[in-house]
Amino acid sequence: MLIDGHGRAVNYLRVSVTERCNFRCQYCMPEKPFSWVPKENLLSFDDLFKFIKVGIDEGINKVRITGGEPLLREDLDSFIKLIHDYKPDIDLAITTNGFLLPELAQKLKDAGLKRLNISLDSLKPAVAAQIAQKNVLAHVLEGIDKALEVGLKVKINMVPLKSINDNEILDLLEYARERNIRIRFIEYMENVHANSDIQGMHGREILSVIKSRYTIKKVGRTPNSPSFNYEIVENGYTFGLIDPHKHDFCEDCNRIRLTAEGHLIPCLYFEEAQSIAEAVKNNDIEKASYILKDVLANKPKENKWGSEEDSDNNSSRAFFETGG
Ligand code: SAM
Ligand code: SF4
Repeated sequence: MLIDGHGRAVNYLRVSVTERCNFRCQYCMPEKPFSWVPKENLLSFDDLFKFIKVGIDEGINKVRITGGEPLLREDLDSFIKLIHDYKPDIDLAITTNGFLLPELAQKLKDAGLKRLNISLDSLKPAVAAQIAQKNVLAHVLEGIDKALEVGLKVKINMVPLKSINDNEILDLLEYARERNIRIRFIEYMENVHANSDIQGMHGREILSVIKSRYTIKKVGRTPNSPSFNYEIVENGYTFGLIDPHKHDFCEDCNRIRLTAEGHLIPCLYFEEAQSIAEAVKNNDIEKASYILKDVLANKPKENKWGSEEDSDNNSSRAFFETGG
């Protein structure tokens, strides 16, 4: 079992396979970054897999593939199959914007994938286009239908933004409820890469919109999950709220992140990272395992979103690099 410097068990690895994206979401990547990581600096799937195996052998049992947009990376299904075949009972999922799912959902299912987290911020074509800066909605909705049709489990993530999609919280809740899929509302996390004009909604504001229609009751947090769950009393539907401005989920944070270049990041907020790239390229598994433990020993106690000493709460980490 992997234990970090604060005594927390770490069993969850998020792997970003590319920082590139076919969307330009205002809260994540409003402009194409000055320089993409050159393609030759990306770790191959074989090298990423070498590190994932180290993690699994040490106790990782939950792996999320993310990005940028992970479905942009060629042969993602073969990578999924490698991981699945190594440990078929692993909790393996992809976080995606859904745009390429109409073509790829079946392939991913056949490769052994069971679950997808899909970002859906609006059900109005113009608003979805305003957020992603591209006409995306029809493809994304088709992608969600396709994923469900091929038998993948789906969760929806929405980031509510003031004066943009804040009037669609209830519509998205109903969309998810009608399809019997879980929705999680994520508080906007301030970061220097986002469009500086956008403003997120606090968890309490999101809840008060839902309370304008329903009575809700706290269900509690799934252990180790950042999502706090609520049940709608009138119909029993459960939704989640991810509220990083409170630090209560840092207490039992169980995750670590690997970027497509091989940087191992202990906390989403901070700049600290160590590279495992050389170790995996040289097949030095012992070194990779040493770096993993060293990064965990130095994992910060909590993020700084919402902290008083850092009043604008801005992180310089790019979500499209870390994978969120
Ligand atoms: N492209 C994929 C997608 O959008 O689902 C995967 C990568 S994206 C960085 C992962 C998650 O991070 C998405 O659910 C997205 O909404 C969320 N995200 C990105 N920037 C964020 C921010 N500033 N605050 C809160 N969530 C953010
Ligand atoms: Fe791309 Fe996802 Fe970031 Fe949107 S949130 S720009 S889809 S990486």
